[in-house]
Amino acid sequence: MLSLVTWNVRGIMSSSVCLSELFKYTNCDIAVLSEHKLFNHSLQFLNTLDNNYHSLGIADTSVNIETSKCGKGGVAIMYKKTLKFNIKPINCPVSERILGIEIQCNENYSIFVFSVYLPADSNIQNYKYEMNIVEDYVSNFSKFGPVIVAGDFNTSCRVTDLDRTNVNKSIVFSDFMLRNNIIPVNASTLRDASSFTYIPTRTLLDYFLVSEELATDVISCENIPEGTLSLTSDHLPVFLKLSIPYVCNSTNSCNNVWPSWRKASESSLGAYNELTNKIADQLLDLPLCNLSDLDTLACKLTDKLKDCANETIPSGSFNPKPKPYWSDKVKQAHTAERFARWKWINQADPEGRTFLLTSNTNLRKTNSGIVNVLPIMPTWTILTVKSTKQLNVYTPTENAKFDSDFKAHVTEFVDRTLESCATNNGLLPGGEITLYEIETVVRNLKLRKAPGYDKLQNEHVRYSGSKLHTVILRIFNAVIRFGRIPLCWKHGLLIPLFKGYRTELDLVFNLGDKSVNISTETKHLGILRTVDLSPSTDIQHSCRKGRNAYFAIAGTGSCLLNPLTVCGLYNKIVIPAVLYGCELWNGIKPKDIRCLETFQHFIVKHIQGFPKRTRSDMCESMTNLERLPILVEKRKLMFLYKLCEMKAQSLTKQIFIYRLFQYFGDTSRKQHGFIPDVTNILSKYSLLNFLNSYMFTGCFPTKLQWKNIVNGAINQHEKHRKEERMRSDNDFTRFLRLSENNGYDFIWQYAKYTGRLRTAKHVAKLWSTPPTSGNCNLCGHFVQDTLYHQITMCTELQTQRHLLYKRLSEMTSDNFLYTLLSKSDEYVSCFLLGNHEALLDFLTPEHCLDVLNEGFSYLTYCRL
Ligand SMILES: [Zn+2]
Repeated sequence: MLSLVTWNVRGIMSSSVCLSELFKYTNCDIAVLSEHKLFNHSLQFLNTLDNNYHSLGIADTSVNIETSKCGKGGVAIMYKKTLKFNIKPINCPVSERILGIEIQCNENYSIFVFSVYLPADSNIQNYKYEMNIVEDYVSNFSKFGPVIVAGDFNTSCRVTDLDRTNVNKSIVFSDFMLRNNIIPVNASTLRDASSFTYIPTRTLLDYFLVSEELATDVISCENIPEGTLSLTSDHLPVFLKLSIPYVCNSTNSCNNVWPSWRKASESSLGAYNELTNKIADQLLDLPLCNLSDLDTLACKLTDKLKDCANETIPSGSFNPKPKPYWSDKVKQAHTAERFARWKWINQADPEGRTFLLTSNTNLRKTNSGIVNVLPIMPTWTILTVKSTKQLNVYTPTENAKFDSDFKAHVTEFVDRTLESCATNNGLLPGGEITLYEIETVVRNLKLRKAPGYDKLQNEHVRYSGSKLHTVILRIFNAVIRFGRIPLCWKHGLLIPLFKGYRTELDLVFNLGDKSVNISTETKHLGILRTVDLSPSTDIQHSCRKGRNAYFAIAGTGSCLLNPLTVCGLYNKIVIPAVLYGCELWNGIKPKDIRCLETFQHFIVKHIQGFPKRTRSDMCESMTNLERLPILVEKRKLMFLYKLCEMKAQSLTKQIFIYRLFQYFGDTSRKQHGFIPDVTNILSKYSLLNFLNSYMFTGCFPTKLQWKNIVNGAINQHEKHRKEERMRSDNDFTRFLRLSENNGYDFIWQYAKYTGRLRTAKHVAKLWSTPPTSGNCNLCGHFVQDTLYHQITMCTELQTQRHLLYKRLSEMTSDNFLYTLLSKSDEYVSCFLLGNHEALLDFLTPEHCLDVLNEGFSYLTYCRL
């Protein structure tokens, strides 16, 4: 036999007792769970919930605890560890609402079980979409063996439910079952409309769908009735048993029902009271001489109380408004108030208004009166607190120097207690616990609280008869006499919770009686630093800040602005924000440099509207932007000037001088921080002699001089390196050729001068696209260089080209055109793309711009 259960749990964590009860009650082999807010940590929790089960699950990744009240839903499957079959998970990468397992019964026979959770909202497209995914899986796997689909379908396929469920979804659902020959077992065997799984509308939303071939194997399928397992979920579990050759499990264990104290009438409470009194007589007759007597008595007391309640108190059901103060009284007041308000608004009835005012205060009174009795602690805990109540537990606020005094206090207390016990026949101070004390505690027990492991609620004790209090009294005094608490009171459901891997430690120092928190951040020179002084987090933070700052200005219509203008803004606004405090980024690692570079590369491409794959060196050159790591170095060098020029009395200067001489003088000590960092930069640009002469003469260049020296040295070095990089790379050949006589930013300067930004953007893309061979986008022929081909050869552009030549010859002379066209394709292309150098002799400066305009207009037809 194979037994399965499906349930929409509603709160895995809060239903932990109910869930473990479900496993006990059904002893099922497989549990198919859905939950509308299944978080990752709940999945960890499922694994630890019951030792006998393995769990698989998909958390709802779209749930955000802070922003979203209700997630889409998650699914989980739990299966017995003792299952003899091979179990393989089937994951669905496209949906978080479906999860499956393959139960491999033998080499040739597998059953596939899917847990699904379909959308609850009324968006039918979304529902169809998710249902299609489910159908894909079902139809695929049913080729290999029988399929069982279980879960919350969020619609009913029963005709009797149609007026209370979403009909459109119901049609989709029914079609799905028809097409795939699967049968809703719990809907067909229980045609009874009084059976349902969703309590608020009394409809059947949770199903076991099985392949036709399995239908004959169904032994039973039932909806576990209201009140059996849980008061928290508004769904009922469905329990399916299949006769599949399988090692049988042990029979179902305890089968008791939760009493609903709220539903209990005066008479049923009276009956309970009477019954407990009768029980008390039996319990008082039991012997209480040793520890095992105590255990038996306590155990029996717990069991009998539950039995009494089951006999006399009606069983519970789900309460859709589970606020503890929402009693019938409040509900009546609320309804009356709503009615009066409706009357007042619709019929302009002044009586309604007066009623409303009084009823509002009524409602509030009713509310507050009941709110005050909110329950807090479970039954036995409250009762057992009594014996420890007499101890005056020490709190550190009592005395500032607690060590010696506290020790004296404890010693004295222990002595006094022992002494008093000796004179009191071994009893605690204050003598035996009295019946009056017990009654007081019982009277004050808070109601409507979740029970502990023994499932005994405070109501069980509170409504019990007075004779039963004597039993409790007997047990408590025996506990004190024997010095041991009954075993069954110590039982609890212990569930280890996965709390995630903590990275930060919450350490607290005590300094005297004050606690001092350890901080992982501190301000250094006005800039917040993390404890390890590594610049990585600072740099990441800076880049994030820069990105936000950039988008703040980019949002103002930068696509209509010349990229050079946007870069100006970027330099003035974003760069200072990013580089704020960069003087302290000591020991920058290659990955930090990459972080800075990536940030700026992204931005220059965004500014110019270039695709991501465009070479970053080109993008930066075309806007005359300096690389960020270079800017950091420049700033560090300027910071060095500031330190050198500081007044000699200042502490910062003294420390700087001290560490500077220590660095050069005591080479055995490895120094970290600004000085080694800046020394490296100086030596990189051969500027170390300035620092040397400062150390010996105390003279440093002026601010302006130093700035020029730094810029001169770094810019030259950088220019040299950049050109070297570009020259060695084939992608740059055309770009370099086009810009060699014009400057890298030629196109944007042209746009600035003529205002033809759109044309310039198109040409800029042609400039920055690396030369490639391939099929021409216009005529489809395979060509050596697509751009040169399109400009000079492509048949698709013939008309436009002839028009261009005509205009050019009109503008200049036939002779000029002739000279031009006698050159190579590459030469002509580069000429039209803006490289006029070679032909400048033939053109007057005013012609130059006209020719450029014509050429660029023609180039807008090119498509790379
Ligand atoms: Zn072509």
